[in-house]
Amino acid sequence: MLPSTEYVESVERTLDSKFTFKCHKDISCFNKCCHNTDMLLTPYDIIRMKKRLGLSSSEFLQKYTYTHIDEKSSHPFAVLTMNDDEDGRCCFLSSEGCSIYEDRPANCRYYPVGKGLMIRDTENGPAPVDFYFFIKQPSCRGYDEDRDWSIAEWRSAQGVDLYDEMNREWQEIQLRRDNPGKPKLDDKKQSLMYMASYDIDKFRKFVFESGFLNLFELDKDEVEKMQSDDIALMQFGFKYLKYILMLEETLKVKEEYKKEKTPVN
Ligand code: SF4
Ligand code: SF4
Repeated sequence: MLPSTEYVESVERTLDSKFTFKCHKDISCFNKCCHNTDMLLTPYDIIRMKKRLGLSSSEFLQKYTYTHIDEKSSHPFAVLTMNDDEDGRCCFLSSEGCSIYEDRPANCRYYPVGKGLMIRDTENGPAPVDFYFFIKQPSCRGYDEDRDWSIAEWRSAQGVDLYDEMNREWQEIQLRRDNPGKPKLDDKKQSLMYMASYDIDKFRKFVFESGFLNLFELDKDEVEKMQSDDIALMQFGFKYLKYILMLEETLKVKEEYKKEKTPVN
């Protein structure tokens, strides 16, 4: 779950930082979390959850999320919908806990650890660097338990290291765009960014059922894989995002279209 910022510790932690925590069914606070929380989702979260529920990405997004536009960056984000009542519980919370536990989103996996990404000076020059922090909500009794962890061990036990690997390129795109020198996105770019980030089945139609494949020089094997493999298509989506957001020339327009100055999106 994502915390209210008042419970986020201001001390930066590393993968070696230690903490004591255990969450289990017999704990007094069981199922008292996962309510009224702003759970931002990532591209890989959607692929895992829509597959589990047997839905298309469009159906999943429509049924379980709303869109948040970040004021500073103007980037669109899918956020998990909580029930619209006083209780405000996550729609996936059952009496037994999370009903999609094996496919729960990255932020749920991380809790009670939070993760951020920042451009920092490194020995190889400025580069994106991860940092971590602890979230200490008074109602969460997990810290009173006696299981010791390092943050590295926690990430691995929660399977969130795979999620980070899958989402890394997307998070770096967010970071590279999110600075005062970059122009805000117009409605069209926001829609394209949302589609390529989250609505993978719509993106597949966009790629395969329009003139898209004729416009760009693309690797045949990559294209073939993208037809049926969501992960390959997601990775291509990141490439496409870098191109339309003018971060990198990741795609090459075919010579004949260059001459005609055909728009790229
Ligand atoms: S997806 Fe599962 S773990 Fe995440 S907020 Fe909902 S019920 Fe809680
Ligand atoms: S220990 Fe924390 S994470 Fe686990 S059920 Fe209690 S409040 Fe939720």
